[in-house]
Amino acid sequence: MFDTTPLEQQLALLRERFTERTLHQLRAQLERLSTWQPAQPPRPLLEEVNQLQHRLAGSSGTFGLNELGRQAAAQELALKARLAQGETAGEEAAALLDQARQDMTLLVSLLQPSPQPVPIPHPQPSATPATIGSELLVLGKRLGALAGALHHYGFALSEISDAGHLQAADWHHNLIILTDDDQLQTVSDWNRQQAARAARQPAPLLCAGAGTDFASRYQLAKLGVDGLFTLPADVPELVARIERLRQERLETGRARVLLLDDDEDLAERYRLVLTDAGMEIRVLNCPETLMTMLAEFRPDILLMDIHMPPWSGTTLARMVRFDPQWLSLPIVYLSSEQDRDRQLNALAQGADEFITKPISDQRLIRTVSILCHRARQLAQLLSCDGLTGLLNHPHIKQALVQEHARVRRLGHTTMLAMLDLDHFKQVNDTHGHATGDLVIRTLAHLLKRRLRHTDSLGRYGGEEFVAVLPDCEPEQARALFKQLCRDFAALGFRGPQQAFHVTVSVGLARLNDFTSAEQGLNAADEALYQRKRGGRNGVTDYAELCLPESNE
Ligand code: GH3
Ligand code: MG
Ligand code: MG
Repeated sequence: MFDTTPLEQQLALLRERFTERTLHQLRAQLERLSTWQPAQPPRPLLEEVNQLQHRLAGSSGTFGLNELGRQAAAQELALKARLAQGETAGEEAAALLDQARQDMTLLVSLLQPSPQPVPIPHPQPSATPATIGSELLVLGKRLGALAGALHHYGFALSEISDAGHLQAADWHHNLIILTDDDQLQTVSDWNRQQAARAARQPAPLLCAGAGTDFASRYQLAKLGVDGLFTLPADVPELVARIERLRQERLETGRARVLLLDDDEDLAERYRLVLTDAGMEIRVLNCPETLMTMLAEFRPDILLMDIHMPPWSGTTLARMVRFDPQWLSLPIVYLSSEQDRDRQLNALAQGADEFITKPISDQRLIRTVSILCHRARQLAQLLSCDGLTGLLNHPHIKQALVQEHARVRRLGHTTMLAMLDLDHFKQVNDTHGHATGDLVIRTLAHLLKRRLRHTDSLGRYGGEEFVAVLPDCEPEQARALFKQLCRDFAALGFRGPQQAFHVTVSVGLARLNDFTSAEQGLNAADEALYQRKRGGRNGVTDYAELCLPESNE
């Protein structure tokens, strides 16, 4: 016996099921062809045959039945061309039906001998993240001060003064490494070894030090360096880079695919193959629950067969677009349609891509993951602010309105915060707009690190931010933002001429206390305004303004 993986066993079972079902369908079709009477119109029967040929042209190759797929495709084209010429009757009709019988018989014979083995995809590394210890590894004596500053930003980091002690470090695929250039060779070797062992990409490597001329920079790139920085480091700039790297890593998380195909065996096969490659797949064999599934599952892409009698994929694509929230959802047709003009016609009706069946498992995995990646980048571009990567104005407002509705329904406490940088105009005037931008980005990074994944965070306007914190009591929010104000004020910035500090003011409101999201926002804004009048650099809660005696 050969050793087989669970995936191989499942795929072999699927192929058996496909063969059995197809044999059954072909025989049933032959049966109907043989009972045809000259008085009956031939067309409905011939169209049935053509549909079966079409289905087999698209699916057989995927199950390793390549010759069956090729023959079915050739038969399909010939019959389709004949049907396009119009009605037939008499002897001509009888001849066509006879040809159809021969076609079906040929396909049956191709299914009888033992089929060729199905290509099995290479095992893909599991997509579950490794347990996360430190997120940053800082190497080298000269980086001690930098490690302290990064700690201030809330990064969990471990420090190693000499690469000789790397055995003690914990490598995982979400790690980011900062190293001094004199340790580079050792840390680069270690990083590559650990990555190979875990079947992962090496961790991003940022290197402090020289690399001023072409030759030395090339050498650093060869050693796997992803970015350079100079010492003493520009900490906010470096934090921004670390955040970008982290974001890129997170993005390659589980791609979400919704697959709609009426061919159950084929859909099941795609599901197994894509799940094994670390993606999250939902399958629908019939489109009637498509809209509910879209709303529940919120996929990155919708993969859809075109021919699903009595439904048509192109009509369904148009229907999905009725709902504005799915206007930018990538719809990808999965079809055995080979004709480029017909493909383009189908695309013109609301889809974005065409994947031609049959497709090998490896190519399916690659194509789908590229499409998902692109879809995520696009979704991010549409909803995120370019400078900070936070939600943009319309999207944070939308998140707030949704959360207000949830609060009404579920009754948990949600806090709303509005933040505004203090005397920011002066920062721009004194240190320049570019430095001002860096200050905005730094506050955004600090906020991102302090809030939970379930919180929503957006750039509301120029130097104003809005945060929505579900399941958060007023005291917790006050404590969290007071600490944030203190930590932000302690960060040092470097202007072209001199070093400086910036502070931030925060207004809070309890979303539950207001009948609309808009009213909650006005209350947080009012609290913020009072904070500005009361001396800035701190937190005011709207609830406190309503007390007879303010205790701030
Ligand atoms: P206050 O403490 O009362 O909030 O004073 P302020 O100076 O921060 O407030 P004001 O609203 O007068 O000025 C806000 C400044 O923020 C003016 C504007 O040029 C600047 N700003 C807005 N968006 C950006 C941006 O994207 N980048 C930079 N660098 N500056 C921005
Ligand atoms: Mg301001
Ligand atoms: Mg302002």
